[in-house]
Amino acid sequence: MTAVHVPGTPVIEDGLLVSTSPATGAEAGRLPVAGPQDVAAAVRRAREAGAWWSGLGSAERRRRLLRWRALLARRIDTLAELVHTEGGKPVADAVVEIVTAVEHVDWAARNAARVLGPRRVRSRLILAEHSAHLEYQPYGVVGVIGPWNYPVFTPIGSVAYALAAGNAVVLKPSEYTPAVGQWLVDSFAEVVPEQPVFTAVHGLGDVGAALCRSGVDKLAFTGSTATAKKVMAACAESLTPVLLEAGGKDAMIVDSDADLDAAAEACVWGAMTNAGQTCIGIERVYAVEPVFDAFVAKVVQRAGRLTVGADDSDVGPITMPSQLDVIRRHIDDALARGGRAVLGGPEAVRPPYVHPTVLVDVPEDSVAVREETFGPTLTVTRVRDADEAVRRANALSYGLGGSVFGRRQAVAIARRLRSGMASVNSALTFAGMSTLPFGGVGESGFGRIHGEDGLREFGRAKAITRRRARSLLPSTTFDRTPADVARLVKAVRAMYGR
Ligand code: NDP
Repeated sequence: MTAVHVPGTPVIEDGLLVSTSPATGAEAGRLPVAGPQDVAAAVRRAREAGAWWSGLGSAERRRRLLRWRALLARRIDTLAELVHTEGGKPVADAVVEIVTAVEHVDWAARNAARVLGPRRVRSRLILAEHSAHLEYQPYGVVGVIGPWNYPVFTPIGSVAYALAAGNAVVLKPSEYTPAVGQWLVDSFAEVVPEQPVFTAVHGLGDVGAALCRSGVDKLAFTGSTATAKKVMAACAESLTPVLLEAGGKDAMIVDSDADLDAAAEACVWGAMTNAGQTCIGIERVYAVEPVFDAFVAKVVQRAGRLTVGADDSDVGPITMPSQLDVIRRHIDDALARGGRAVLGGPEAVRPPYVHPTVLVDVPEDSVAVREETFGPTLTVTRVRDADEAVRRANALSYGLGGSVFGRRQAVAIARRLRSGMASVNSALTFAGMSTLPFGGVGESGFGRIHGEDGLREFGRAKAITRRRARSLLPSTTFDRTPADVARLVKAVRAMYGR
C-alpha cells in the first residue's frame, strides 16, 4: 500500500521509514524500521565493537576520528544538500551547522587522551603513604537519541565525544531526519570499516524508547523537555545514567550601553536562523527603557528584509508540519492578551513557512513568552533596568543559553542569568566553542556535551590508590593500637583543629 505523503511528515511504508522535504515533498531517505529485536541486536553488536574500539587505544582512535573529521570537511556540500532536502534548512545554515560539528570532532579527537587518560593526582598528608591515580574509562555502549532541528550538530555533540572516550554508539535519529543520521554512520564506517562502532536504528518514538531499555550503558538524549522526562523514566528502570539536552526559551538582554546595530543583527540571526527552530534560539528580548524604541526599530528593519522560501532564502520552511499550529497559537495568544505585532502577525503563518514576526507589549504570562515557540518569532519587552531584565529572563523553568548586549555590566549580567551558557555581544556563540561545555539547567536538562566536561560525561571516573610506603599512622587495620588512634587524633587536631 502506498501512503499519501504530507510534505515533511515521515511515513512508514513496507517496513521502511520514508522522510520527505517539508518544502517540496521530495523523498529524502528510506530506511528500515528497527523492531525491539533489531535494537537489542544493534546494542549487542555495539558492545563487541566497543571492546575492540576501546582496545585500539587513544592514539589510534584519535587518528581515525581525525580522518572522519577530514572526510566530513571534504563532503560539506553533499551533506549540506541532504540536510537541506530532508529538513528544509537553507543550505547556508546547513553549512554553518556542519562546520561547527567538524570543529567538535576535531577537538574531541585531539583532547580525549589528555582529559580522560590515566594521570596521577596529589595525595594528601592523611594518606601520604599511598599514591593516587585517576582515569576515565569508557562506559561501553552509549545510546544517542537526537532531534531533527540540527541533525548533524546535535548528535555529533554526543557521538564524537562518546567515540573519543572509547565508547561504541548506537544512534536513534529523529524520524524527520533519518537519512542524515544514516549518512553520518556510513561516513564513519569508511574510516572504521572493521567493526560496527557507530550504528543507527531507525523508526518513531518507540524505537527511542526501546533504545532506553536496551541495556546501553549510558543514554544521551537531545530533544524536547516532555520526551526527556519519558527517557529519564525509562532509563530509571535499569539505573541507566542519562544526559539530557532539552528545550529552551532563551532570552537576550539589551543594556543601555549596548551597540544597538550589533545587538539587532545578532538578535535577528539568533532568533530566525533555521527558521527559529533552534534550542538555543533567542525567543525573548528584554531591552532597557532608554534604548527600547531604537532597538525595536532596528530589529524590525533587519527582520523585515529576510527572504522566505525553499531555495537560497534566509528563512526556510518549518520542518515539522504540526509545529505550525504551535507557532500560530503563540502569536494569537500574544495578540489576544494585548500584544502588538510590529512585524508579521497571524498572517505570517503560511504553511510550510512562517514569515518573521516581532511582537511587543506581550504580557509575561502569554505562552509566547513562557513556552518554546520554535519559529522565526520574537517578543521584545521594555524593562526599567538590567535588574528587571535578569529577573524576567530567569522567571521560567527553562535555562539553556542566553545573550547579553552591553559594555560595562554585560559580563556581570551574563553571570546572573540562570542558564548553562551565555554569549556576550553575540548570539549562540558558545555552541561553536568546542572548549566550552554545553548544557542547561532546570527544564532544559542536565549533564554537559562539548569541552572537557563533555568528554568526562562519556567516561566513568576510575580511582586507584597504590601503597608506596608503610603507614605511619595505621588506622584502617585491626592491628592498630589505642596509641595509634590517639596519635591520629593528635595529628588531625594539629592539621585541622585550628
Ligand atoms: P522530541 O523530544 O520530539 O524528539 C527527540 C528524539 O526523541 C527523537 O529522535 C524522537 O523520535 C525521540 N523520541 C520520541 N519519543 C520517545 C520516547 N518515548 N522515548 C525515547 N525517545 C523518544 O524533540 P524534537 O525532535 O521535536 O526536537 C526539538 C526539541 O529538541 C526542542 O524542544 C529543542 O529545544 C530541543 N533541542 C535541544 C537541544 C539542546 O542541546 N538542549 C538541541 C536541539 C534541540 P521521533 O522523532 O521518531 O519521535
